[in-house]
Order: sequence, then structure tokens, then C-alpha cells
Amino acid sequence: MSAPEPKLTEGWGVIRPGDRKAHYYRETFSLCRTRGFYTYDLSPDDSPSPDDCKACRKVLDREAATK
Ligand SMILES: [Zn+2]
Repeated sequence: MSAPEPKLTEGWGVIRPGDRKAHYYRETFSLCRTRGFYTYDLSPDDSPSPDDCKACRKVLDREAATK
């Protein structure tokens, strides 16, 4: 067993074939609950993009508002 590499556990994923928008994943599941088992690269939240899934963005915004 090799030591696990430090890896982002949440962030915006890439747009895969069949995806129309980029989803925000946390622990491999998208916040909008329409995508799961995501294993591609993640990027930390930066500026809003028109390619962002609106449902995922809404969850993020709601969490930010309650902090
Ligand atoms: Zn989404």
C-alpha cells in the first residue's frame, strides 16, 4: 500500500462528454446530486463561469451565505 497523495476533495470538475455544464464535486459527488463517482481533475472554486452548473452554484452560494 502506498501513501495516498494529497488531493483536492472538492472543486469544479471538467466538462466530460455528455455533460453540458461543469459540476462542483465534493467527495466524488456533484452538489446537484446528478453526477457521482467523479475521478477526474478538480479545480478550487474561483470566479463564476457561464459553464458552471446552476444547481451546483446555487448550493455553493447558499452555503457561503450561511457561513
Ligand atoms: Zn451540478
